Amino acid sequence: MSPIDPDRDLSRTDCAAVVLRLFEYVDNEACADDRVQIKAHLDECGACLREYERDLLLKALVRRACEPEAAPRALRLQIMSRITSVSWTGADRTGQQR
Ligand SMILES: [Zn+2]
Repeated sequence: MSPIDPDRDLSRTDCAAVVLRLFEYVDNEACADDRVQIKAHLDECGACLREYERDLLLKALVRRACEPEAAPRALRLQIMSRITSVSWTGADRTGQQR
């Protein structure tokens, strides 16, 4: 059994507040308290988790764009195609095979 502190109900963390702080979280700039709250919320909230993953991908893209030597053209193409396939997911699922 774990004691529940009503003043720290993590599930009540507001989605908008979490999304606003995602950039800090992704950049490792959020304070430890915020990180715990945001992580707890991401565990429960699929919508915010998707935002978080998109931010991570964006951050990786930006970082690679700033370091041309570390990002061969093939790798960049791979990332681009991955983003394309991500945006395709859920849009059309008629090609399912059994
Ligand atoms: Zn949320």
